[in-house]
Amino acid sequence: MDVLFPRTIQELRELFVSYPDGRILAGGTDLLVQIRKQGNKPSTLFSVEHLAQLQRVEVNETELFIGAGVTHQQLLECPIIKQHFPVLYDALSVLGSPPIRHSGTLGGNVCTASPAGDTLPPLYVLGAKIAISEQTAQRCVPIAQFIRGPGHTILKQGEFVTGIYIPLPMPNTFSAYYKVGKRKALAISIASLAVMLELNSDETVKNLKLAWGSVGPTVMMLPAVEDFLKGKILSDEVLAQAGEMVMLSTKPIDDIRASAEYRRHLTANLLFYLCSDSRLDSI
Ligand SMILES: Cc1cc2nc3c(=O)[nH]c(=O)nc-3n(C[C@H](O)[C@H](O)[C@H](O)COP(=O)(O)OP(=O)(O)OC[C@H]3O[C@@H](n4cnc5c(N)ncnc54)[C@H](O)[C@@H]3O)c2cc1C
Repeated sequence: MDVLFPRTIQELRELFVSYPDGRILAGGTDLLVQIRKQGNKPSTLFSVEHLAQLQRVEVNETELFIGAGVTHQQLLECPIIKQHFPVLYDALSVLGSPPIRHSGTLGGNVCTASPAGDTLPPLYVLGAKIAISEQTAQRCVPIAQFIRGPGHTILKQGEFVTGIYIPLPMPNTFSAYYKVGKRKALAISIASLAVMLELNSDETVKNLKLAWGSVGPTVMMLPAVEDFLKGKILSDEVLAQAGEMVMLSTKPIDDIRASAEYRRHLTANLLFYLCSDSRLDSI
């Protein structure tokens, strides 16, 4: 297997023409495992390590751009992520282990499209858009349209992700991510929840976005639950009612990590944990 190192987006586009079965190698933490498991080796890998355009983090008045090749650790060390995107910061902090965070990239996490991918629920609640390079142009699509199912995205042969655009959250927005796994480190999530919450001055909910991971084939959002909570104070009673709605709407599966029933209860408990008054008061 050859590894080639394009330096520009145009060079990478041309490599896909010359080597149609080539695959992008970012940190390799998923790809190398996939190749070993499936046994169908691509003839060529295109490393994005020297592709400067995929290593950028840039912010303007309205949005943040994160290049697809930026590692999880680089993002954790970026003050803007900690300050303005705590929901993403929380997820990056619990993703894998230090070696995985130093190699793995945001683009790789998105393109792997695992229902347990830790950065995905945050990117859904943040309204992220994925920038895709086509043969001669570029298009941007919301993340919910980009991911089609476990391991499946809308990328066609020769297309790749250049980066992720995230709108800057409104000031005074509370956001957080929590995952339940079997251990504290190196644990794939059993269920997770990302929350973005904006309160009115009377403490009723102004805006709310909720996204659960690991409880369906893709990240799950429940607009009916968000609508139910809008305009209300997040009392224990209200959250218990919302939790019932969540449990009725989820259809998780049994697998080696947890039973469907346990996961269903977690979806409601996570909502309660992240949105309860006592937690919001402590922020
Ligand atoms: C021990 C271990 C623990 C892990 N723990 C976690 C965890 O807790 N949470 C979690 O979410 N993940 C976890 N992972 C999975 C993995 O580390 C992450 O998904 C990581 O973000 C993948 O990024 P990467 O740069 O290594 O991607 P790669 O492995 O290089 O690529 C992954 C896939 O995406 C494609 N790809 C990469 N970049 C692009 C691009 N720019 N355009 C198009 N396609 C692209 C590749 O061709 C490949 O198909 C773990 C993995 C291991 C091995």
